[in-house]
This record gives sequence, C-alpha cells and structure tokens, in this order.
Amino acid sequence: MSRTILGCHLSVSAGFFAMGEEALSIDANTFQFFTRNPRGSKAKAIDPADVQRLLDLLEKEKFGRLLAHAPYTLNPCSKDERVREFAAATMADDLERLRYLPGAMYNFHPGSHVGQGIDVGIELIAKQLNDLLDDEGDTLILLETMAGKGSEVGSTFEELKRIIDLTEKKERLGVCIDTCHLNDAGYDVKNDIDGVLETFDKVIGIERIRAVHVNDSKNEVGARKDRHAKIGEGTIGLEAILTIMRHPALKDLPFYLETPNDVPGYQEEIKLLRSHLDR
Ligand code: FE
Ligand code: FE
Ligand code: ZN
Repeated sequence: MSRTILGCHLSVSAGFFAMGEEALSIDANTFQFFTRNPRGSKAKAIDPADVQRLLDLLEKEKFGRLLAHAPYTLNPCSKDERVREFAAATMADDLERLRYLPGAMYNFHPGSHVGQGIDVGIELIAKQLNDLLDDEGDTLILLETMAGKGSEVGSTFEELKRIIDLTEKKERLGVCIDTCHLNDAGYDVKNDIDGVLETFDKVIGIERIRAVHVNDSKNEVGARKDRHAKIGEGTIGLEAILTIMRHPALKDLPFYLETPNDVPGYQEEIKLLRSHLDR
C-alpha cells in the first residue's frame, strides 16, 4: 500500500510534540506550522526536550518532511529598509531555531514590491536570500508560488526563476506550489495540470518543486485574489485536486492543506482524500 504524505496546517501554540500527536489523531503523516505568530512577533524559546519527543514520534510513525511557514506578513522586498531588516532578522532567527528540526523545510512568501517594480523586488529578495543562506545550517528554503494580488512577487514561474538565478546557494532552494495561488495567478491547474507542470519544468525545472499546498479556490482562473476554499467547495473541485495529487511529478511530495478549516474539518478532508488516493 502506498500512503500519500498528507497533512494540514497546525498551531504550534501547545508545543511541538503536541502538534505531532494532533497530526496522528487526524491521520496526517506530515504537517505545516507557523514558526511564530503570523503577525511576526517574538517566537517562544525552543524546548529541546519537547522537540526531541516530536522527532522520536515522527520517526516511529514514518512521517514525511514537516514544513515551517514564515510569518506571511514579512516583506523581504519592502520599500522600507526597516521592514526588510525585520524580515531578514526574523527569517535568520527562524532558520537558527529550525536547526533543532532536521529535515523540516522552510517556506516563505517572496514579498510585495509595493510600487518599486518587479525588477527591484526580485533583486531585494535575492539579496536577502544570499545573506540568509550564509548560515551554518542546511535547511531547505522554499519560495511559495503566489496568487499575484497587489504587487506580489512570485506569481509567475519566470519571476521565481529570476530569484533562483540570482541566489548563490541554489542547492538550498526549492519551490512550494500552492494550487489555489496557481489558479488565481492564471495557471489552469483544474483543466491542464500537465501543461502547467510542463511550463514549470521548462522555466524552472520540475525537480525544484519540493512541497504542495493543496487548496481549492474561491476564484476563477487568473483572478489574482488568493482566497482559499475547502476541497471540493471551490472552482478547482475534488476531481481536479485528485488528478493533481496523483500526477507522477507530484504524487511522492508532501501535501499540506491550508483550507479554511478547524482541526476536525481537516480530519474530514484528509479522510476524503485518503479514501481516493491511498491504495
Ligand atoms: Fe503561504
Ligand atoms: Fe499556501
Ligand atoms: Zn494563500
């Protein structure tokens, strides 16, 4: 039997081991969490004993890789230098903390160029990455594909490729595709996932995709909005989501749900998806 690596977004507030237990209780074999309050406030100190209990559980239960998500309010390519410095300091601190969690990947939103133009945005992001990756660790950093609302950078594969090209330690970089964001950015994942992934392969190289956020969308293709829907309740729909998750280029990657759900809601979605996918 092959078991899909599937989980959802969980809250770190009760600690690391508690997230592992919560994931297990809803039949997840991976999960995502925010490294700190999404507004970017100070993170709680790591309790090494708590993290070790989680690591033991992950190994015993054969979990897939965890995904740590940076606060989505950070803007590494802000016009305001202090905002950029705050993003740099926060991400550096996150990476420092993630050294306690070997194997976990670190996902972030590239940022919004807020009127400076896409070229300046891309350069600022790459500069931050080059500074950030000058660390002692080996955490894999994922750039998330964005929906393209406002002046978001990273809603096209070409933009992500340019960021990667300007980064020195490319071996530390991957991409997390988000099905809702792809849809909202204008990539027709519902009707043509083959074509979308072929384009990704041509522009970036398919092996860069290291994780998938599985979300339905409240919007039509190309709406540039970013509003997630529950699986089967959006414009992408259950059948297309299953086709995406079964795609040969994606099926062995970790999938994380970020649908508007509480934990029992996630449990239902995981059950539904596993009933179709796990054989
Ligand atoms: Fe995200
Ligand atoms: Fe996402
Ligand atoms: Zn989103």
